[in-house]
Amino acid sequence: GDAASVPAAAPALVEGPAEEGRRVLEIAGLEKRFGATTALARVNLSVRAGEVVCVLGPSGSGKSTLLRCINLLERPDGGQIAIDAGSARFDLAFGPTARAVSGREMTRLRGHVGMVFQHFNLWPHKLAVENVTEGLLRVRRMAGPEAGRIAAGLLARVGLGGKLTAFPSQLSGGQRQRVAIARALAMRPDVMLFDEPTSALDPELVGEVLQVLEDVAASGMTMLVATHEMGFARRVADRVVFMDGGQIVEVASAEDFFERPQHERTIRFLEAVL
Ligand code: ADP
Ligand code: MG
Repeated sequence: GDAASVPAAAPALVEGPAEEGRRVLEIAGLEKRFGATTALARVNLSVRAGEVVCVLGPSGSGKSTLLRCINLLERPDGGQIAIDAGSARFDLAFGPTARAVSGREMTRLRGHVGMVFQHFNLWPHKLAVENVTEGLLRVRRMAGPEAGRIAAGLLARVGLGGKLTAFPSQLSGGQRQRVAIARALAMRPDVMLFDEPTSALDPELVGEVLQVLEDVAASGMTMLVATHEMGFARRVADRVVFMDGGQIVEVASAEDFFERPQHERTIRFLEAVL
């Protein structure tokens, strides 16, 4: 059971429908400061298996910091993160007295928590197929032919079956981002974090990447997606999280969020972007 994952003193306030599956991700009291800036102020969030949660909010509201803390690209200053990946479980506590997370544990965690960035972060000197096989070869210690087969299958799945031997520089932004998604999928993560995956793209390339995200969501993947694509959030998200000033201001079903926003800051945000 997952009852013991978070101390009773810091309950996760925000939960998905109770009848759904296990909690893959449970965040409680998460804090992160950069100097005098509070990027995350005691954030609580719980995500269940198969849920798609879109994280909305103005620039600087803490969306990237939240995702980066979950993947341990940033070290939180306080709070807890529990990840139940089925086959593996991580119970991480942060703060002045908490033990440091070892590099080995970080690597292991990132094998279960995939991340896709705004700026793709592909290896420029590697072919598309090599970008996808890299983690399989180095982290999973898979044999070359098997890794190649998996990478070819995933690149075909994101519509790039004809681009295996292209370098990133020979691909459009939308194609590069699809390679990055295939690379993340190759590790067979239990949850995927997307940090504004279409924000760096020319408008005409946004749709092809959103379509891939929608396909991944339809496959049952648990997803946390920071985005400014309101149409996507409305169509694909099970729940929407609205952040402002490092806090989660509102959480609701996509329909409630867009039709019946509750908080004044949410209403102002939606008036500005819709
Ligand atoms: P968002 O992704 O919603 O735009 P961020 O998580 O990037 O927001 O930023 C939240 C706040 O933390 C902002 O005030 C930002 O300036 C600050 N911040 C983020 N990363 C850093 C950093 N590496 N150093 C200093 N300040 C940062
Ligand atoms: Mg950001």
